[in-house]
Amino acid sequence: MDNVNGRYGRGFTLWFTGLSGAGKTTIADIVERELREKFGKIEVLDGDIVRTNLSKGLTFSREDRDTNILRIGFVANLLTRNGVGVIVSAISPFKAARDQVRREIGDDFIEVFVDAPVEVCAERDVKGLYKKAYSGEIEQFTGVSDPYEAPAAAELHIHTDEEDKEDSARRVVAKLEELGYLSRVEEYNRA
Ligand code: ADP
Repeated sequence: MDNVNGRYGRGFTLWFTGLSGAGKTTIADIVERELREKFGKIEVLDGDIVRTNLSKGLTFSREDRDTNILRIGFVANLLTRNGVGVIVSAISPFKAARDQVRREIGDDFIEVFVDAPVEVCAERDVKGLYKKAYSGEIEQFTGVSDPYEAPAAAELHIHTDEEDKEDSARRVVAKLEELGYLSRVEEYNRA
């Protein structure tokens, strides 16, 4: 279909990466609500939920984390190429795995770095996990006892310790608009 960037009606994968508690799910929820009105076909792949089904039984070793991310990427790719807007929220700490998914999905992969200092995430401690991580009850916890490799060239970088969550969500939707996923050419010409 014709549009400015030739992307109207094409699927996409919005990939939210960041520390636990950084705000991935919170922002993804707001974005999902908006996109259901503007786009239609939306699927959400949340890391915590995927670990209860598609990736059930996987550990938090580097190998299993990568396997988890590549599985999510595989499903996201199938959906994306069939015109679905996919929203992924997963810590996805390792750059190589994220970049592999980016290569598989290509131009329709949009990486959103949901960033907050680990101290802020630990202070929020939404799920009580940081307390357990600092006490050693949980091992290999990203940002505390396991690495997080920040994206160097994400399409969007959100600082949730400085921005309002509604503003962050608006920036994500605006990025999709800018890339041409949401607006037909006629609407563009009218604007
Ligand atoms: P994640 O999915 O990254 O693990 P969550 O979305 O589950 O993180 O939790 C993030 C927490 O931070 C929520 O309790 C949310 O209300 C809070 N929060 C505070 N400020 C923001 C913000 N600007 N953006 C997103 N979340 C925020």
